[in-house]
Amino acid sequence: MNGEPDLLVGGTWSHASDGGTREIINPADGSVAATVDEATADDARRAVSAARTTFDAGTWPATPVAERSALLARIVDLLERDKEALARVETLDTGKTLVESRIDIDDIISVFRFYSQLVGVEADRLIDVGDPTVISRVVREPIGVCVLIAPWNYPLLQMSWKIAPALAAGCTMVAKPSEVTPLSTIAFVRLAEEAGVPDGVLNLVQGSGAVLGAALTDNPDVDFISFTGGLATGRTIAKVAAEHVTKVAVELGGKNPHIVFADADWESSVDQVLTGVFLHSGQVCSAGTRLIVEDSIADDFVAELANRAEKIRVGNGLDPASETGPLVSEQHRAKVEAFVELGISEGAKLVAGGTRPSDPALASGSFYRPTIFDRCDRSMRIVAEETFGPILTVERFETEADAIRLGNDTEYGLAAGVRTSDAARGERVVRALRHGTVWLNDFGYYTAAAEWGGFKKSGNGRELGPTGLAEYQEIKHIWHNTAPKPAGWFKGD
Ligand code: NAD
Repeated sequence: MNGEPDLLVGGTWSHASDGGTREIINPADGSVAATVDEATADDARRAVSAARTTFDAGTWPATPVAERSALLARIVDLLERDKEALARVETLDTGKTLVESRIDIDDIISVFRFYSQLVGVEADRLIDVGDPTVISRVVREPIGVCVLIAPWNYPLLQMSWKIAPALAAGCTMVAKPSEVTPLSTIAFVRLAEEAGVPDGVLNLVQGSGAVLGAALTDNPDVDFISFTGGLATGRTIAKVAAEHVTKVAVELGGKNPHIVFADADWESSVDQVLTGVFLHSGQVCSAGTRLIVEDSIADDFVAELANRAEKIRVGNGLDPASETGPLVSEQHRAKVEAFVELGISEGAKLVAGGTRPSDPALASGSFYRPTIFDRCDRSMRIVAEETFGPILTVERFETEADAIRLGNDTEYGLAAGVRTSDAARGERVVRALRHGTVWLNDFGYYTAAAEWGGFKKSGNGRELGPTGLAEYQEIKHIWHNTAPKPAGWFKGD
């Protein structure tokens, strides 16, 4: 970064093989936050090869579980030490408010702590095959070389959901952060090195998806690809992986319904519908972008949302007065603006936002005002597609069955929220929704101990929880006959 080498391959930091670099832009003011090395396809192959050699040497995968657990605990200590510095880097890179970045780092600490504890608990399984001379056991082994690819909205958080279980399982890995937001991952890898991650176990390259990402995934030496990002990229990666029969987990987008019944608590519902969609300017895979509200309260509810949305303080994430930051880049804002134009042309009724903020102090950043469209329906692309910006669409329903039908009427299935004071109805609706996480009278919370992932086109595989560790393990059945004797099948005479 800024002249320091940023690629870590086999324990050695180096520049890109062709000397290429990329400027990382601070979206709050358009300034250059840092210049980093831009890895090439050759660098990708070098990194995978280093991870392969380290894995095949056998020392790291055979490291006692207690040692790997202690390593993760040391990473936790260093993350605690560097928390504020890492949060600032994340804000500089993504634009999100410092408060949000601090929460990210706390969550990252929880993930490393969780896997540090879990890895010692997950045990092998003994099976009674009905013969006392046979020991049949099922053991878990590290899956091997992992390629870890992360998006830009939660750069280090998403990467930590991969690195922590991969280290816990005894895998070797190549991490590729988004080319838009690599800074926190570079800082983290330096920290992991300080914690004592052995050479070649955690390799780091950053650069474009089209060149670097493609070279990392199209490589027969890779055993597992864990990808978080958009649907189109996920499809591409799954196809490439299929060619090599490489295991792949893809965590993709969402178009998440937030269903509000008329009997829901008013104040927390208004508050959480707003937070659920406008936090981090809507650049959240699980953002509650589709409000599905009971008709009898819809007019009043939407009026209150619009009123409060107009008051949300958009600004530089480093300014404590800001409640939400900019979009990640000019290019991304252009996409969001195109969606707003589309919503208007589709006939949705704009009731809040719909423009850039007028404050001249924000003119050089990629800011956009919280935007609400009322009177939407499922025929509109603005309701069907992931906009990944501060846009809330409103649909109305009359019956519980309608609410469920609308909530499931999406090709995605990442997350959903339900708000009602009727506990029995709440339980019925959450069970009927086809989404990987469903919040009842809450929105956006998660824990390292519970699995995260999507139904339908929101992806496959799970991160976090015990399943998030199992993704990085192979299962082996060992049949040990302690008293071998001939099977006597073939007599040969
Ligand atoms: P993206 O798909 O454009 O990029 C994600 C990563 O993939 C980046 O590191 C990129 O460089 C890399 N990449 C791009 N093309 C590639 C290729 N051909 N081969 C290999 N790698 C390639 O996504 P993004 O714009 O960075 O992130 C936003 C998306 O991520 C949204 O759709 C959001 O919903 C999703 N997301 C999902 C979750 C989840 O948990 N399901 C979490 C966060 C973000």
